[in-house]
Amino acid sequence: MPDSNEPQGAVRKPIDKQALLARYRAERDKRLRDDGNEQYLQLKGQLSHYLDDPYTPRVEREPKTDHVTFAFIGGGFAGLVAGARLKEAGIDDVRIVEKGGGFGGTWYWNRYPGAQCDTASMIYMPLLEETGHMPSEKYAHAPEILEQCERIGRKYGLYDNALFHTEVTGVEWDEARSRWIIRTNRGDEFTADFIGIGNGPLHVPKLPGIPGIESFEGHSFHTSRWDYGYTGGDPKGAPMDKLADKRVAIIGTGATSVQAVPHLARSAKELYVFQRTPSSVDVRANIPIDADWFASVATPGWQQRWLENFTANQAGGSADEDLVQDGWTDLSRRIRAKIGQIPREQLTPQKMLEAFEDSDFEKMEEIRARVDGIVEDHETAQKLKAWYRQLCKRPCFHDQYLQAFNEPGAHLIDTDGKGVEKITETGVVVAGKEYPVDCIIYASGFEVGTEWTRRSGFDLVGKDGLKLSEAWADGMKTKHGLHVHGFPNAFFVQPTQGANLISNIPHNLTDSARTIALVVKTALERGAKEVEVTQEAQDDWVALLLTGPGRMMIGSPDCTPGYYNNEGKDPGPAAKYNVGYPAGASAYFKYIEDWRNSGQFEGLAFR
Ligand code: NDP
Repeated sequence: MPDSNEPQGAVRKPIDKQALLARYRAERDKRLRDDGNEQYLQLKGQLSHYLDDPYTPRVEREPKTDHVTFAFIGGGFAGLVAGARLKEAGIDDVRIVEKGGGFGGTWYWNRYPGAQCDTASMIYMPLLEETGHMPSEKYAHAPEILEQCERIGRKYGLYDNALFHTEVTGVEWDEARSRWIIRTNRGDEFTADFIGIGNGPLHVPKLPGIPGIESFEGHSFHTSRWDYGYTGGDPKGAPMDKLADKRVAIIGTGATSVQAVPHLARSAKELYVFQRTPSSVDVRANIPIDADWFASVATPGWQQRWLENFTANQAGGSADEDLVQDGWTDLSRRIRAKIGQIPREQLTPQKMLEAFEDSDFEKMEEIRARVDGIVEDHETAQKLKAWYRQLCKRPCFHDQYLQAFNEPGAHLIDTDGKGVEKITETGVVVAGKEYPVDCIIYASGFEVGTEWTRRSGFDLVGKDGLKLSEAWADGMKTKHGLHVHGFPNAFFVQPTQGANLISNIPHNLTDSARTIALVVKTALERGAKEVEVTQEAQDDWVALLLTGPGRMMIGSPDCTPGYYNNEGKDPGPAAKYNVGYPAGASAYFKYIEDWRNSGQFEGLAFR
């Protein structure tokens, strides 16, 4: 019986693996370039206007010079869930500092048409149970996710003390008073007993370094600063009526473009989609959530059960049922099924890797066959096929993206892996041909491989003047990804060196929030002014991490270049620390729950 998740056009012919690998290599080689991350433009100087907030006017205010118990840098999911758990633990004066004009982080900035989550809402949207919100769709659209952020902010009183449109410029440990000094671009200089940092991995937009980019005389913007004033329409899906007489270029075909293109194809007079590497676009199968069904599953503790179930299905665990049933769990189910076919006595790591690879080949053949089943123009269909392993680039899921290329005004301009050649005053040039356009939309992504301090806009100065950039000069070193020796009373909220569950980042963040609230509450109860991970505990944790299998199939050098593999450049020895708990995400969440419940806080010194 066919798998119910099997896309139309699924193939069942034998796969010539050697031929496929040769094609993958050839496609990758076309894209390799010497400049790696240097190919992108930082949005400063003449380009800094691309960062302006089109959504909320800036409000003048007096600088803050007071003291709070907890300051959190970043008002996205990380800051919101940490703030919520701290409030639940009775810590009232929590201040969130956020560069946007409101809460939401990624979802504050990314309001482009069609934006929606790619991991199921039931597990992606944080604190659904606490806020009593029922997601309207299996994959909620951006406005609903932004509203959930605002709902969390309101429910936990996080607006009262928040500083919006405020960028942190310096954070320094005050040894004498055992507290942090936080300075910002709004002249603030306040102190906090504890700090959290959760400014996200993808928050600094970048532009492609295309010659002539500054000469374009038409309109242009980055997808994370969508200009609805120019396009018409709104984030909720109203038609972008002002584009009806416009020729629009969109540069980039990553996860953002895949979601925006169908809307642009419907609205613009002509749409030119400039592609360097096609995305793999699998079935989305979004459905509305039925209130009766939701009531039947949303019994006490439901969201935690769903989170654990997804992780067990998805990241090295095992579960009898699959509550979420999406592209991620499908991928894992296939891999497990393949591994299950290996006779027990032949079950070696090599065989498992081969099973993983076979499953990937099959999946990608299906995804390529799906293109043929949908895109009417044969040549366009060939160009939309992704020739790499699925986890070489961010997998995409959409049921209207490929279809958009059947619209009469939508044109795929494939650059054969080379990228756009140049931009002129009037248009975009590929292979010597100019495409005149009125507007260029840059779906060119965000800085990833650049220095942490460049992306955050500050360094952290800890005990004895030690800077975070120095402490991590040879690579990131933490315990649980959260605590860093030399930086007491500070929490780093991000997945690496913890669960490292990439398919559902919020699970990592909500779990860290629990630890933060408990550690801070315990410190306050014990009258401890400082909490710091010991050097020994940190060393032991890092040593444990390095016993794991490494980054496996994600980001390997034989992948087509992208931010998963440092644009194809050797990431250097520091990259070996960008890993998670060796036994996998499920095991990590179990481990950390036990660590918290023990009440021992093994590895942390309270003084
Ligand atoms: P990406 O970095 O994934 O994509 C940038 C695009 O720009 C790529 O297609 C890239 O091509 C292209 N590009 C870069 N330089 C040039 C050039 N010179 N000429 C032509 N094209 C060029 O950015 P996105 O904003 O799409 O996505 C970033 C991440 O944000 C995703 O990977 C995902 O993690 C997250 N995201 C999540 C969503 C969700 O969960 N719903 C939705 C959207 C984004 P190439 O591939 O060749 O480098």
